[in-house]
Amino acid sequence: MAGERILVVEDEPAVARGLTYALKADGFEPVWVDNGQQALEVARQGEAHAVLLDIRLPGMSGFDVCRQMRAEGLRLPIIMLTARDDEVDKIVGLELGADDYVVKPFSVREVITRLRAQLRRAYGELANTTGAGRARFGAIEVDWDRLLVFREGRPVNLTPTEFRLLKHLIANAERPISREALVEAVWGYASDIEDDRTIDVHIRHLREKLEEDPAAPRHILTARGIGYRFKP
Ligand code: CA
Repeated sequence: MAGERILVVEDEPAVARGLTYALKADGFEPVWVDNGQQALEVARQGEAHAVLLDIRLPGMSGFDVCRQMRAEGLRLPIIMLTARDDEVDKIVGLELGADDYVVKPFSVREVITRLRAQLRRAYGELANTTGAGRARFGAIEVDWDRLLVFREGRPVNLTPTEFRLLKHLIANAERPISREALVEAVWGYASDIEDDRTIDVHIRHLREKLEEDPAAPRHILTARGIGYRFKP
């Protein structure tokens, strides 16, 4: 993947400028916000591939933002930016769901190295989907090499999670797949009840983006009592 959108949550403009400048220079697409509420809004829209999250923010702290993102089922990589060593103990000890951290003052090179590692870990499987060419299902067309999806010839902007979900549905076309199996395929671990509901939300988004009439889907079908089924 290229041009991943990186959400930078940082209230110090000088630090934010340094990060966004370096991210752009490395081919990323930084999105800068200076508070936790806005960070949550951007993440909820599925617009970010990863988050660089400062801990000391006005209002909602980075700890709270991280916890809230995980509570809402948002699984994008989160790297905490911490000003003090004693905050590191909290990041590690509180089981916030953060993936990594860097201590200020940091070098932007180090941040980007850590970021790349997290992106590889989170999306590596997607990036490796090469050599499969294009596939068409009615008005939907998937370019597996370039990880692009089109509807009636127009590009559709899917989040990495939506793309993974669609890929798994298509790979098992015509077979009903349980919510649990979808959670495991998309996130790689067994589910709980909240994860099941998360799948429903992602399915709804996929239908809104891909189906002509999301209320009467022709491809992404509900398998009653089980989960979902893709109909080519
Ligand atoms: Ca700060």
